[in-house]
Amino acid sequence: MTLAQQFEDRFGSVPAGIWAAPGRVNVIGEHTDYNDGFVLPFAIDRATLVAAAVRQDSAVRVSSTFSESGEIVVTDLSGLKAGDVDGWAAYPVGVLWALREAGHELQGMDLLIDSQVPVGAGLSSSAAIECAVAVAANELYRLGLNGSELALIGQRAENEMVGAPTGLMDQSASLLGKEGHAVFLDCRSQHAELVPLPMKEDGLALLVIDTRVSHSHATGGYASRRRACEVGADIMGVPALRDLSEADLREASGLLDDETFRRVRHVVTENARVQAAVELLRTDGPRAIAPLLDASHVSMRDDFEISCPELDLAVDSSREAGALGSRMTGGGFGGSAIALVQVEDVDRVSAAVTDAFDRAGFKEPVIFAVSPADGAGRVS
Ligand code: ADP
Ligand code: MG
Repeated sequence: MTLAQQFEDRFGSVPAGIWAAPGRVNVIGEHTDYNDGFVLPFAIDRATLVAAAVRQDSAVRVSSTFSESGEIVVTDLSGLKAGDVDGWAAYPVGVLWALREAGHELQGMDLLIDSQVPVGAGLSSSAAIECAVAVAANELYRLGLNGSELALIGQRAENEMVGAPTGLMDQSASLLGKEGHAVFLDCRSQHAELVPLPMKEDGLALLVIDTRVSHSHATGGYASRRRACEVGADIMGVPALRDLSEADLREASGLLDDETFRRVRHVVTENARVQAAVELLRTDGPRAIAPLLDASHVSMRDDFEISCPELDLAVDSSREAGALGSRMTGGGFGGSAIALVQVEDVDRVSAAVTDAFDRAGFKEPVIFAVSPADGAGRVS
């Protein structure tokens, strides 16, 4: 059954159209977002689709193909407040709520979501939903918002309706991405710029190695890292760690305790690596950024201390099998690693990593290639 047919099946009417928004992977720039720094994600070739229709009242009905029972969650936009919706419906409903909060005139919608973005693999299935709904509402209600404006709406939905304190990276990548390009985002100015990332043309692939590990201390670890960054910036007398350069690290080492210093050094060097990667992509192409991926991992493993045995093994075993560069990606303590590999080495590297996990007694990882794709838009 097509998605339009499933929509008819569940809602009893035809959708006005189908929109898609991709997940994303972050090439480099980890834990830099909340330090006002730089990130370099790209929109991946796996998307979330939404079949949508406007309503004449303020009701929102949402359903997802991941619930086979065909469950429909019904809410009403009028009088809706932040935090009123929980569960997965908070993502789509939150977007319509955020649009109204921002002063845009819209009524309710019927929405059926169908996602190819795996949940919890660090590919931002949440932003994919938000951005698909955002572009659908933008078009059906003729709001005339651009990608950067819609990204802020998606972020607000996630921050205030879902209650997750996330930055703007995921939505920016999903909305602004372009085939063969990465999105260089300055998290302070919110300025986004496309940078060429011609993977296919250069015979390269980016492998995502999902360790399928989610460590119980991920939340506490994230909060404590954020705190350390705030403390570091405070002692150094800057608004955010973004304002420190590598030249300031000598002074920082004298002022900060060892642990805080290493947290700060990760963020400062990571920001420098993102900027170096952007320069290299413009001059030399994707192959040239491989050593920066390796350095990013070492920094997260040793200075920020957010890796785990499974992520380290994913990185080490992929490198040993011929990956050009590799690093953990995302918040840490589990989730995925990424490896830059030559297309002809994809199978060998994948098999070697799987084998290494088996020998270590770890859960079998899920490994797949992603490539830079176009951002959100209408598909039919
Ligand atoms: P991710 O890293 O994948 O974005 P999040 O925890 O931020 O992880 O978002 C995952 C949440 O998004 C899921 O728990 C679920 O609530 C929602 N979600 C993801 N995919 C779907 C889907 N196909 N249908 C409905 N909800 C989904
Ligand atoms: Mg998410």
